[in-house]
Amino acid sequence: MNYLERVRQIKKSSKKGDYILYWMQGAFRVEYNHSLEFAKYLALSKDLPLKVLVVVDFNYKDANYRHFKFFIDGILELIDKFKDLKISFHVKIGSFKEIVPQYSKNADTLITDKAYIKWLKDVRNEIYNKNDITIYEVDTNLMVPVQAASPKCEYGAYTIRPKIHKLKEKFLNDFVVFDYKGRSYEVENDLNGLNIDDKLKSVHYLKPVDFIGGESKADKLLRDFLNEKYLFFAEKRGDPSLDVESNLSFYLHFGFISPIKILKEAIKIDTDPKNYETLFEQLVVRRELAHNFTYYCDNISDLFSFLPNWAVKTVIEHKDDIRKYLYKLEDLENFKTHDKFWNAAQYELIHKGKIHNYMRMYWGKKVIEWTESFEDAYKILIYLNDKYALDGRDPNGYAGIAWCFGMHDRAFQERKIFGKVRYMSENGLKQKFDMDGYLSRVMG
Ligand SMILES: Cc1cc2nc3c(=O)[nH]c(=O)nc-3n(C[C@H](O)[C@H](O)[C@H](O)COP(=O)(O)OP(=O)(O)OC[C@H]3O[C@@H](n4cnc5c(N)ncnc54)[C@H](O)[C@@H]3O)c2cc1C
Repeated sequence: MNYLERVRQIKKSSKKGDYILYWMQGAFRVEYNHSLEFAKYLALSKDLPLKVLVVVDFNYKDANYRHFKFFIDGILELIDKFKDLKISFHVKIGSFKEIVPQYSKNADTLITDKAYIKWLKDVRNEIYNKNDITIYEVDTNLMVPVQAASPKCEYGAYTIRPKIHKLKEKFLNDFVVFDYKGRSYEVENDLNGLNIDDKLKSVHYLKPVDFIGGESKADKLLRDFLNEKYLFFAEKRGDPSLDVESNLSFYLHFGFISPIKILKEAIKIDTDPKNYETLFEQLVVRRELAHNFTYYCDNISDLFSFLPNWAVKTVIEHKDDIRKYLYKLEDLENFKTHDKFWNAAQYELIHKGKIHNYMRMYWGKKVIEWTESFEDAYKILIYLNDKYALDGRDPNGYAGIAWCFGMHDRAFQERKIFGKVRYMSENGLKQKFDMDGYLSRVMG
């Protein structure tokens, strides 16, 4: 078993149980899923049946109809995949804290996907304390496992990059598939026969976006991206007037696809190596820096608890600077500002479920410029991103927003409101890109 650095034993018990239980909570896929493979390996070596459990928790923090719809589409697809694998699959509606302990009671071992955000780590810890059972966590959603990459919160891409590059070969190639087929298997599906729309009435309604959740949709999107956009990725990805992004962030967020699969497929394409380097920098270095941030930072809601000292000092010095424009949450949410490019970015967020990568930075920076305090701006950005972005509520989102305030960045020349935090201007956008092209692409 060569997953030793992906797998962490959380608890050891001498109690024997009747089956191996994999609580699938972060990696909703069968391919390139180290947690599933480790669970199969234990089932084979202990000669016990394997059960996979998914809990659909309608009280999941900050999730709304848009998120649930995408998630449930992906879960329904898994039912057939597990049937083919002859592995028992249980989809239960309820709370994590009740259902997982119930299913663990007679289990021999509990395996789950590693969590990278504090509230999800806290939920797991509560669950782990409820039963006397052996427990493992598996880090399957990152190429280099978060603790293997670094034991501490990193300063920036420049500090984590060499660590990741040193380990990339090892972790890109550690995946093995175990040939487990259950002698008998069962399917339990609480979603069966349920009018999902009725059920979802208890959660906040938000119009779904044009993407459908699930592993096969992620596969198709990856293939389309590699065939149609990847050849221009390094050169054009940052241009908001063009659509050269993969949109895979939706699928990565829900664990419908593994970054390892994306890299393995990309490496096969015969193109300028710069495209692979750019993909690696975003998908591995930047994404893993974001996960490093939320994994090691205890309080991502308190901006001043994690910003570097230079950023804290400079924003405190500039907190009373006069703001030329001041907008309330309602104006921002309804894209009613004086800035047509910002409005288009907010429109894109609401309608597409994410903003183009370059405009996402501009979107964040302007909210800082137009609100009374840095703390207000931070709360508004998290609120809007988590509500509307289909890839929101993710380490990448928290790190991306924190970056707008100086996290993982360096000091720039001092100016009003921002102090030494990097500033972005409307003129800068117009000089670099065809911004009318962006407006017509997004607003139609
Ligand atoms: C203010 C702000 C908010 C953001 N909010 C989110 C969010 O809620 N969810 C989210 O996934 N990303 C967020 N990002 C990061 C980045 O903008 C998105 O990951 C990217 O635009 C997703 O689109 P894509 O999948 O088409 O990316 P592509 O350009 O196709 O890149 C491929 C993958 O690389 C990773 N990646 C790309 N850029 C970054 C980055 N800057 N940081 C970390 N990983 C990256 C993503 O996993 C992405 O899916 C935010 C950035 C900022 C500045």
